[in-house]
Amino acid sequence: MQPLGLSDRTSRRSFMKAISTGVIGLCTAGKGAAARSQPDTVLRKGTTQATPIFQNSGRESGQTALIIGGVHGNERAGYLAAEQLARWTPPRGKTVVVPRANAVAVANETREANGDLNRQFPVGKRPTTPLARALWRLIERTQPDVLLDLHESTGRYIDGKLGQSIAYPPFDGVRSGVNQVVSRLNRSIDRAENRFHARELPRPGTDPSGVLVKRAAFEGRVPAYLIETYTELELSERVRYHKTLTKGVIQNLSSRDEHHSGSPSTNGWSPYDTRRTSELFDQLP
Ligand SMILES: [Zn+2]
Repeated sequence: MQPLGLSDRTSRRSFMKAISTGVIGLCTAGKGAAARSQPDTVLRKGTTQATPIFQNSGRESGQTALIIGGVHGNERAGYLAAEQLARWTPPRGKTVVVPRANAVAVANETREANGDLNRQFPVGKRPTTPLARALWRLIERTQPDVLLDLHESTGRYIDGKLGQSIAYPPFDGVRSGVNQVVSRLNRSIDRAENRFHARELPRPGTDPSGVLVKRAAFEGRVPAYLIETYTELELSERVRYHKTLTKGVIQNLSSRDEHHSGSPSTNGWSPYDTRRTSELFDQLP
């Protein structure tokens, strides 16, 4: 069994399938697209939760990054950064961006709408709502080489909350790359208390459960990262942090072979069988 998105993958086939099923539009594929704001397609189209998906392809082929903002509707820097990243063309590879995953929550400026979206992805079980299932299907079809989920917190990591941190998956070759990206950003942050900390994603079975990046990493075997900024800092700075870390992780991935061949470490936990997920999703409408 190959970890999803890590090696010898069927991404081309899946990508073509996604296009044929309308999940991802073809508007910009292979063009080295210029900045634009028209979505390629819409998630949950025709429902009150409808939200656009953007895609940009670099001039050279390469890895696929999936960027998600607005899982929590009151975490502004996350979805504003994702909206700007939706207009960014990576030098190589492609991005698929869902800036406002929970569009209703973003419109209402509330953390939740129809429940907390970031508690609806239990590891080993079916995502618990139609929106969560639609997002997971997008992940399955995109087969990203990296997934970034952009959030905010009301406190700093050094004070026991999650602000100013990036959580990375415990896969081989990931830690040193993320540390490089973080130290580069930290050199631009004067106040020591506002500098970023890299932490390992908590394993399945730890609270909270149902977190998107945990399911992506531990069940989907996607290198998934959770970026959190501290809401008391300037909004423009928080947006910059999200963008810099996201681009840094993507570019670091492009330049490092370890990420392509790395397999999840198995120290102390049993990997889940990704076939279960595929079977579950084959049954969805
Ligand atoms: Zn959040």
